[in-house]
Amino acid sequence: MSTSLGKLSAGGRDFIDEAHLHALLGRRAEPAEIRAILAKSLAKEPLSIDETAALLRADAPEEIETLLDAAQTLKRDVYGNRIVLFAPLYVGNECMNDCVYCAFRRSNRLAARRTLDAADLRRQVEALVAKGHKRCILVFGEHPRYDAAFIADCVTQVYSARVGHGTIRRVNLNAAPLDHDGYATVKAAGIGTYQIFQETYHHATYARVHPAGTRKSDYLWRLDGVGRAMEAGCDDVGIGALFGLYDWRFEVLGLVAHAIHLRERHGVGPHTISFPRLRPALGAEVDRPHLVDDDQFKRLVAVLRLAVPYTGLILTAREPAALRREVVRLGVSQIDAGSRIELGGYTELEGEQQPDREQFHLGDLRGLDEVMRELIADGHVPSFCTACYRLGRTGEHFMEYAVPGFIQKLCTPNALTTLAEYLVDYASPPTREAGWQLIDRELAQLPDGSRKRELVDRLRRIRETDERDLFF
Ligand code: SF4
Repeated sequence: MSTSLGKLSAGGRDFIDEAHLHALLGRRAEPAEIRAILAKSLAKEPLSIDETAALLRADAPEEIETLLDAAQTLKRDVYGNRIVLFAPLYVGNECMNDCVYCAFRRSNRLAARRTLDAADLRRQVEALVAKGHKRCILVFGEHPRYDAAFIADCVTQVYSARVGHGTIRRVNLNAAPLDHDGYATVKAAGIGTYQIFQETYHHATYARVHPAGTRKSDYLWRLDGVGRAMEAGCDDVGIGALFGLYDWRFEVLGLVAHAIHLRERHGVGPHTISFPRLRPALGAEVDRPHLVDDDQFKRLVAVLRLAVPYTGLILTAREPAALRREVVRLGVSQIDAGSRIELGGYTELEGEQQPDREQFHLGDLRGLDEVMRELIADGHVPSFCTACYRLGRTGEHFMEYAVPGFIQKLCTPNALTTLAEYLVDYASPPTREAGWQLIDRELAQLPDGSRKRELVDRLRRIRETDERDLFF
């Protein structure tokens, strides 16, 4: 099957049955049913659409409290207390689409258009590396300039940058849907996750906010985007919805339906799910009826956690610092920190945001070191781990490790060595002190044995020698 933009993945189809999803959202579940669903989720079994809808309908205060607690418990059981850190890096804001909610939309004359050249890109990457980052996501508008070859070249340049011990060890992408050949090209450049957000799964809303005649107005080409990526070898994919365009409960069901479709069609679900909320953007319209308040936002994160136990959840600096601090414990596994989303922002800007150079307004502008210190104070282990991706534990292979809970035996030791690197090479004195105390506490909780002895030796070598990048 194809659309006007090209060939779909095998079995590519529009799996969003709106009538069914709306019907599910109209039905209330009995307390006993809710308890059974939570028990299934806490047993680390992915939930069905019906079960997810039942949790979304659970809106009595005591039910919501139980849900939030269950999400925290599940997060700890599957991911331990680590939080993986990354930084976004916008490469170009030329765009041929006209999405009404976006400052980069083609009809927005107020946007300062720019595409980083090779020297610009290197300066941005070196600025990130010099702060201690090891993981970044490259972001592109949709434009003929940003074809697969250009994107692949950017990925190669990012991996080649080095500052002292530091390099970027995993490059993810947030870019337009490609055809199979395009994905194969960027995969060959060594990308990690390929992220494509459907923005909204509601067809009429999708058509309203993505004007006809633009590439992005093709709902099915975009919906099938990550399926094609998986067929072309990008086995770690990320999906997402822009919360605030339509009913948040419907969008959660859309995301879970997408995850189930990928599991059924490609044997593994998405590597990550993102849930950005609409934010003010220069020259963009943000209509109000479906805006998501903070309490609803916490519920949607918790329900996603419970519905897809093995999919990473990404909370970005769109959200204000205080809310991020609360929501991160509800099942989030990845956050960005020290983020600037203006083109050239990591070397050319300090403090105030520049609306004409960014896609939307950020809520959290704190530096990486400050975010690290807060995570450590709250008992989270900040991690820059890239081991699974670099050892081929991706897609189905990642699941093999995740399912038996083995990941905790890998994630925590690897998180501690990447944290140790940060403490030795980049941290401020207060963060360094708090970080090493956390490492001691974590070590005390690990079972004695060869793995722990090896870990202790690696931490010593990072502290006392130039050895770096030690992972299981
Ligand atoms: S959301 Fe993406 S595709 Fe749409 S206008 Fe903005 S940059 Fe372009």
